[in-house]
Amino acid sequence: MRIDIITIFPEMFEGPFTESIIKRAIQKGIVEIHLHNLRDYSNDKHNRVDDYAFSSGAGMVMMIEPVDNCISHLKSERNYDEVIYMSPDGELLTQPLANRMSLYENIIILCGHYKGIDERIREHLITKEISIGDYVLSGGELGAAVLTDSIVRLIPGVLNDETSALSDSFQSGLVSPPVYTRPREYKGWAVPEVLLSGNDKLINDWKLQQAMERTKVRRPEMYEILKKK
Ligand code: SAH
Repeated sequence: MRIDIITIFPEMFEGPFTESIIKRAIQKGIVEIHLHNLRDYSNDKHNRVDDYAFSSGAGMVMMIEPVDNCISHLKSERNYDEVIYMSPDGELLTQPLANRMSLYENIIILCGHYKGIDERIREHLITKEISIGDYVLSGGELGAAVLTDSIVRLIPGVLNDETSALSDSFQSGLVSPPVYTRPREYKGWAVPEVLLSGNDKLINDWKLQQAMERTKVRRPEMYEILKKK
């Protein structure tokens, strides 16, 4: 998979993309991430990418021309499954959406800033808008990093233990059961006996029951959907 990210702050991705699972996925050649500094696509002599909003004093708006230049350049080189804009009023990022997107070959992610982007970009250049939650961030970069992480870890070969993504919360409509590691007892706090039993059937039954119980308490709306199935 190839992910092209358009941003005015490429350095913000240092860290999220240079550590841990995404770093490994890049090293293994499973994913390519290309950062594009929007200022490089500005025709303005000061490399401006934003301007005042028509009819409102407050806040700057990202201009259409540099964004169009960048997206057109990328599209001239390959086809894209989606051109995504990170936006608080977009489709909420969920595990099913991440699952679907992990099958894509090429995507563009545009990060907004300031008051947002000229609406004509959304009307004519963007094919999908995604929100990472009902709150407002200063820019799309953190959202783009979250979206990228949620997708990349689902691509086969990225996680060492293939089943580990499948047993994560939300994959089966349940949240995850609790997990434990050594020591068996700490300050008198013991690991549930069943996990040490070596009996796979008992262990799996316990995990399912714990996951159901947690889902019922923590995410009742998910539990209701599960009950109807
Ligand atoms: N004025 C806009 C918010 C602009 S915030 C409004 O009220 O809707 C600046 C940028 O941050 C946006 O262009 C978007 O790219 C990003 N952003 C903010 N909140 C986000 C969220 N919840 N999910 C994804 N991107 C977000």
